[in-house]
Formats: sequence, C-alpha cells, structure tokens
Amino acid sequence: MTTEASHGQDFLSKFGRLPQSAFPQQIARAYRLLHDRQWYSQQETRDYQLNLAKTITSHASKNVPVYRDLYGEEIEIRSWEDFQSLPTLTRTKYSAAESDQKVAERTPPNSKTIGSSPTSGTTGAMVWIAHTPLANAWRCACILREFEWLGVEPSGDCAICRQPVSHDSPDWSDEIGAEVTPCWVHPAIQELLPIGRGYKFDIGLPIRKIADSIMELQPAFLHGTPSFFLSIAEFLEGFRPKAILTISEQLFPDAKRKLENAYGAPVFDTYAAVEVNRVAASCPNSDGYHVHDENVIFEVLDEKGRPTPQGETGRVVITSLHNFATPIIRYELGDLAELGVPCSCSRGLTKVETFHGRQVSRMMLGNGKYRVATSLILTLRDLPQVNQVQIVQSTLDRFKVAYVANRDITDDEKRKVQTVFEQLAERKVQVNFCRVERIPPLPNGKTPPFVVDPGLAG
Ligand SMILES: [Zn+2]
Repeated sequence: MTTEASHGQDFLSKFGRLPQSAFPQQIARAYRLLHDRQWYSQQETRDYQLNLAKTITSHASKNVPVYRDLYGEEIEIRSWEDFQSLPTLTRTKYSAAESDQKVAERTPPNSKTIGSSPTSGTTGAMVWIAHTPLANAWRCACILREFEWLGVEPSGDCAICRQPVSHDSPDWSDEIGAEVTPCWVHPAIQELLPIGRGYKFDIGLPIRKIADSIMELQPAFLHGTPSFFLSIAEFLEGFRPKAILTISEQLFPDAKRKLENAYGAPVFDTYAAVEVNRVAASCPNSDGYHVHDENVIFEVLDEKGRPTPQGETGRVVITSLHNFATPIIRYELGDLAELGVPCSCSRGLTKVETFHGRQVSRMMLGNGKYRVATSLILTLRDLPQVNQVQIVQSTLDRFKVAYVANRDITDDEKRKVQTVFEQLAERKVQVNFCRVERIPPLPNGKTPPFVVDPGLAG
C-alpha cells in the first residue's frame, strides 16, 4: 500500500463542497474509501471482497428463495474456492423466476427497497432490480471515482444520447427534443459537486434536430454510445465538449481515436449493468479498464466455468456486493471480456483489457459455437472511407455488411473482407455489401457492429 500523499488529493476536496444531509455524507464516505482502496494490493482487495461475499451469500441463502433453491439453506463461504464453487445463474434463468422468489424476505435497515429499475431487456428477458440506500450510495461513490479518473472539472450540463425517450414525461421539451433534468447524475451528487443539467435526447428524432440543439446548448459533456456520437459528429463541427463519456457498446480503438479527433476531447468509457450498477471504467493512466472491485466481484469464465487465463475471452460472471434487497450472485450478464495483466498505474484493482459487449460481436458457426468477430469488424472499419459498419448474419453462411461511407467499398477491398469472413467461418460464405445513409439504433438505443438474426440465434 502506498501513502495517500503520493497519490494526490481526492476529487471531492479539490472540486466538491461540504454535504449538509445524511445521504450525500454517506456517499462522500464511500467515495473516500474507494479513493484510498484503489491503491491496496490485489490480496487486500480479495480479502475485502471475500468478507462481503460471505455476508451476501449467507443472507441470500437464508432470505431469498431463488438462492435458497440453488444453494440449499444456510450456506457458509469460508474461502475463494467455496465461493467459486457456487453455481452460476444465467440471466434467462433468473428472469424466468417469479419476482417474489428474487426479493429478500428480510433485509438490513439500510437495504429497504426505495425504487427499482428494469433491465434494458436486450435479450428479451427483463429483470427487475431493487434500489436501496446502501446500493445507491456505492453506485454514486463509484461515479465519483470515475470523475476522479476522468480528471476533468465536473461543472456543466450534459447531453445524454442513449435511447429513445418518451415525449409524455412532464420534463419533456419539444423545443429542445429532450427531457430536461436539473442534475445529469444522481441528484444527491449535486450536493457534493457543481454538476449541471441533463438533456436526455430522444435518439429516435432526426439527427439534425439533435445536433442543432446540442450546438445551441453547448453542453460540457456528451454521454452515450460511441456509434451515435460518431454518426452525429459531422453536424457538430467546432463543438468542443470537456469530455465524451461512452457507455453501452464496445468502444473500439479506432472509434475512440475518431471521436477524440472529431471533438478534440478525451473519451472516457464506462461499463455498467442495471443488475449490479457500476462495474468498470477507463484506467486514467493506460489502455483498458479497472473494475470497481469494492462494488462487485468480476469473474471471467471459460465454457467449463473455470477462470480464463489473462488475454483469453470468457463469459462475464458478476456478484453485487451491496444489494441485499435483490441480491445478484455469480450472475452471467451475457457479456464477454478479457482480463489484462496487472496495470502499470499500480492500482490493485482488477484490470480488464477488452469488453466484447452482449455477445453481439460474435459470428455464429453452428452447433452452438460462436467466434469473436473483432478482426472482421476492425478490417471493415480500417477502410479509410468507412465511418460506421454493421454486419448482419441471417443464416450460417449469409451476411450483409451495411456501411456508412463517403464512397463505395471497391471490389479489391470486398475480396479482402470476404477472405476475413471465410477465415472466421472456416467455410465459403455469401457477403452482400450495402452502403447506407445511416445505421439506425435498435429499440434499446444500441447500434451493435455485429447482429445475429434473432431467428438464427433462437
Ligand atoms: Zn491502471
């Protein structure tokens, strides 16, 4: 462990103000713990997690029917081996259980349900997650540590471009094309930091209308998917936000570079899921991400359920350490990721090299097998005229490549791309190229670079 002095002042002392009410004070305490703990060793972090994991699994096996069925009553976790031998829970299985099976019959006083969120339902399976004061405080504290890592003075408004937004809300403004809220993160954070207004744009509106509003408002921050901010960049010439905060999609290195060039601002990527709140964010000193290990246990497992070695892709399995109302333990999010080697920044937090998104960047090979399609996506996006691309797999050997570009892909380039397709698929495939004006987002607001037809994925 290194001393506090060598790692600088915490973000709240630098930019914050003294909170008056209890909840922001609780957030500030949790943030200061995160600020200090990021420099603890991996072993110290592991011990801390194991203690919390013992408490939450014991609580869940006693008080939550879905875990009681899975583990048997009164389970006791003594070691990492015990924890890692617990069965994992898939999103499909979890969402199939009745809601009263997933909510704790008894909770500690700081873990009463005070609200809820449904998941985005990308896979069709909706999951309902309770908000509690304890889980919310940790969520907000993780957001503060993300601000610290971003390292930008936090005042100013934010344009949020993540998904279609209903026009029925009382906060909706027709003139702006967005829902307007007084604070763009959790309102309690406004008592701690000079956070500005949020403009939650309806990304279903014409892109020109959104761009005109952003030019008029000149928000300090942009928050949303990389693909959306790439597609709108040509209409925002000269606009210079403080930072672009990306989420919900795999941030490819070329997209990051293009965004930085187009907006002249740093790009900061975060990875979160409704089930477990904040999970990871860009390391401020290197490529890759750090996990909020004090909020979640983040595992990457192979097909047999064993931890994958560094550099190999595996399934993300996650445990929420602070939600006692709807516990989430060894839960398969449906995403893929690769762990990295310990980070040069000397933070002891788990390092993730790459997130591959919700199993969308994978080609289906048949017999239930998939292959990560990153090489294919990168080949297409490396073509100089291509701004955005989406591959749709309709059968095992038929693909459509939709792309946004200022000129057609040449026959030579098509042959090169075809070769990469066939190397991945290990067979002859049919590829149709289709130049389009715009690739529309899916109803959940995402524009994945690889889509397997739902009929085929069935
Ligand atoms: Zn790092």
